Amino acid sequence: MSSPKRRLLITSALPYANGQIHIGHLVEYVQTDIWVRFQRMRGHEVHYVGADDTHGTPIMLRAEKEGITPKELIANVWQEHKRDFDDFLISFDNYYTTDSPENEQLAQSIYLKLRDAGLIEKRAIEQAYDPVKEMFLPDRFIKGECPKCGAKDQYGDSCEKCGATYSPTDLKNPFSVVSGATPVTKVSDHYFFKLSDPRCETFLRDWTQVKTPLQPEARNKMKEWVGQPGESKLGDWDISRDAPYFGFEIPDAPGKYFYVWLDAPIGYYASFLNYCQAQGLNFEEWVKPETTTEQYHFIGKDILYFHTLFWPATLQFAGYRTPTNVFAHGFLTVDGEKMSKSRGTLISAHSVIECGFNPEWFRYYFATKLNDSMEDLDLNLQDFVARVNSDLLGKYINIASRSAGFLVKRFDGVVSDEAMHHALLTTITAASEKIAALYEGREYAKALRTIMELADQVNAFVDENKPWEIARDPERAADLQGVCSVTLEAFRMLSLYLKPVLPQVVAGVEDFLSLAPMDWDAVLTPLSSKNPIKAYKHLMTRVETPQIEALLAANL
Ligand SMILES: [Zn+2]
Repeated sequence: MSSPKRRLLITSALPYANGQIHIGHLVEYVQTDIWVRFQRMRGHEVHYVGADDTHGTPIMLRAEKEGITPKELIANVWQEHKRDFDDFLISFDNYYTTDSPENEQLAQSIYLKLRDAGLIEKRAIEQAYDPVKEMFLPDRFIKGECPKCGAKDQYGDSCEKCGATYSPTDLKNPFSVVSGATPVTKVSDHYFFKLSDPRCETFLRDWTQVKTPLQPEARNKMKEWVGQPGESKLGDWDISRDAPYFGFEIPDAPGKYFYVWLDAPIGYYASFLNYCQAQGLNFEEWVKPETTTEQYHFIGKDILYFHTLFWPATLQFAGYRTPTNVFAHGFLTVDGEKMSKSRGTLISAHSVIECGFNPEWFRYYFATKLNDSMEDLDLNLQDFVARVNSDLLGKYINIASRSAGFLVKRFDGVVSDEAMHHALLTTITAASEKIAALYEGREYAKALRTIMELADQVNAFVDENKPWEIARDPERAADLQGVCSVTLEAFRMLSLYLKPVLPQVVAGVEDFLSLAPMDWDAVLTPLSSKNPIKAYKHLMTRVETPQIEALLAANL
């Protein structure tokens, strides 16, 4: 029934070790985790890895401000991130850090291969420099007055007031955010990855337009960025930063460090390498160009450029395989607006747990909104309450409580084997491959709609057959057992279909139905009289509107 066994390496984007995980991030981890759990249920070999992205100027400066070392800072943040991912049931096989020996070794060897291929070039560039702090300043660390509208306290790359974009040298009365000093311009040698090289251009045009089944929106963007043959639209990529910088030193250039975006994606491989060594897996077999394994990256649409241009080019010219595909998603809005600290809608993952929310409510809600596109998705808080209470609990969870009680009380938990041939169950079994195809295609919203339509049919069956009435007639015990058995078997299959989204609830279901953990093929193995069910335990509570108010207040 399942397709032949596939071998999949799957990643989610690496969160920056400079802040908390919020619900906007969680969309991506939930999206990936559902896909990962689905692929595992299909019997494929799946390795899901992640890591904290730990390098760069913001980390260095924040650590300094807190009076700790960058390594101490990233160790603390790693603990918080890991806790949040565990809370939301994100099932990483390895969660690591980009500040690792594996990553340093990989980044250096990849750099040297690119250099030996003639794709690295040293060039002197002019940059803003803080003469007091004695460091070069990234655009975001310079502020001043907007050259267009005169608004004060604007960043070096764009004005938040009028929306103008410019370079930091255009700012009026510029100052360093770090020391307050007026920046001066200073020349320094930087190292560039020559994306404008004809080899890169040719490769990227083929990789983005022919070889890789990118999302149509992504493919069109890349077409714009790569340009037509001979048009050379790709600029070279500045991959170095000057000391002081928290990162890896470039092997043949003392005092120069890899820009954080060079070693961050390599961090996927470093995490996987670390995992392979612990598990005795053959890393080389997964990353060599002629591998038959698959490699997928889930990301937000804002970092498409890094994952569909820089990363595949880096891999290609350093002698590695390239990604099988990159899946980009849109941004989360709350009640139709950008998440905002002042409205309390920049909701941290930890506050969700602290306020007593069930993380599976969010997993379910995000799944009802997710599809294969890069469109933004909205968390409408009223709709959230309605979907959780009326769909998840009202339509799905309630099915169990409507049937399990009679079976346990009247029949010692024994189901009727004859009931397993009921037409309703045949209908639900028949939906298996359709639902699987929707999960495979990341069309979770459609998958859940299909499952909830089946739940509607099950509830209609219960309403028609009225087990609570049959139960009053002692002569109709067999009917009662039959109706409840059909209902409970239907519930089992719906649970199986929902398992990638609701792993914890379904673990509870498997327990009370006395089942081993279900894989996708278990849809064909109905409940059996040989395996009596246990007493029904409460699986999930309702969400109450005051909880939502408390959550927003906690994030103000
Ligand atoms: Zn302005």
